[in-house]
Amino acid sequence: MRDTADVTIIGGGPIGLFGLYCAGLYRLRARLIERLDRLGGQLEHLYPEKPIYDVGGFPMIRGRELVERLKQQAFQYPAEIVTGVTATALSQGDDAYLVETDQGTFSSRAVVITAGIGEFLPRRFGQPEIDQYEGRGLYYVVDHLSDFDGQRVLVVGGGDSAADWAMAIADRAAHVTMIHRRDTFQCHPDSLIKLQQHPRVRLLTNRAIHRVLGEDAVNAVELQTPDGRVLPEPLAVDRVIVAIGLIPGTDIFRQWGLDFEGHEIRVATDMSTNRPGVFAAGDIVTYPGKVKLIAAGFGEVATAVESARRYLEALLRTKIPR
Ligand SMILES: Cc1cc2nc3c(=O)[nH]c(=O)nc-3n(C[C@H](O)[C@H](O)[C@H](O)COP(=O)(O)OP(=O)(O)OC[C@H]3O[C@@H](n4cnc5c(N)ncnc54)[C@H](O)[C@@H]3O)c2cc1C
Repeated sequence: MRDTADVTIIGGGPIGLFGLYCAGLYRLRARLIERLDRLGGQLEHLYPEKPIYDVGGFPMIRGRELVERLKQQAFQYPAEIVTGVTATALSQGDDAYLVETDQGTFSSRAVVITAGIGEFLPRRFGQPEIDQYEGRGLYYVVDHLSDFDGQRVLVVGGGDSAADWAMAIADRAAHVTMIHRRDTFQCHPDSLIKLQQHPRVRLLTNRAIHRVLGEDAVNAVELQTPDGRVLPEPLAVDRVIVAIGLIPGTDIFRQWGLDFEGHEIRVATDMSTNRPGVFAAGDIVTYPGKVKLIAAGFGEVATAVESARRYLEALLRTKIPR
């Protein structure tokens, strides 16, 4: 087993990376465990090229660039970075926690969980006749915006991710149609206004995909209304982006003795969980008023690391008689 760290951060997404920086500020002996080979979480793996507009100080920054800056900021201080390792369990050792992983056990006095949505599982239609087009014009994950240059694109979904994709490709696609099965879009009002005003974007409510057409690749889509009526004219499109949500994959943490509410860990205002010395921040937490945004997660993890520092100080006071 390796040396005992002061704090082990579980999950190397944007919030874990900023947490690592915060731990460096306090000169804590920090360790970061990330299950994938590359750091950066959803930004790196789900939307490296998508513009982000709502992180303070950056009018616009792309996902991967924000990750690079976070790494630059975090790596100013020495820390143990362990990638390609999944944390699986948490037990109590003699004087520290034992973080068990698929590649051994790591000892740590405090733990900060920033594991986001766990695994990245885009919600799929689950209909083989539609899903078979993935890789042939249908996208659940967009790696390269250039795939949409000059193309006729359909974006499926009514939330922020769908609106973000529509905005990200609107200037480069031939045209973009965004459909939502409900009668209103749920994205930010600002995105909606910008999309409504964009000359190459068309927004349609009460529409869903009935069938994808095309021999080798997507070349049209049949749409239907909520009552199942199929529209007579198929929509000619070359690309379909499906942004109907992500499936939370945080079940691994359910065995850790933590209070869960739905798929998230319940935290107090100091980001403490129900286990002393275990804190959490970012997409994996819930509390009244929680919003799943990078900006919110940054504040939470700054609080979580400060709480961990106080916890470590208190631990020391109880161990060293003055
Ligand atoms: C398409 C899309 C667009 C978005 N656009 C925006 C936007 O414009 N602005 C905005 O503020 N937010 C946006 N978001 C949301 C934003 O990406 C999340 O709020 C943010 O990524 C949360 O960061 P996190 O570090 O908490 O979690 P994540 O980014 O999910 O990172 C968690 C990390 O923990 C790792 N991990 C999970 N389980 C384990 C384990 N057991 N052991 C070790 N490591 C583990 C994961 O592999 C991952 O790397 C968007 C999301 C999507 C999907």
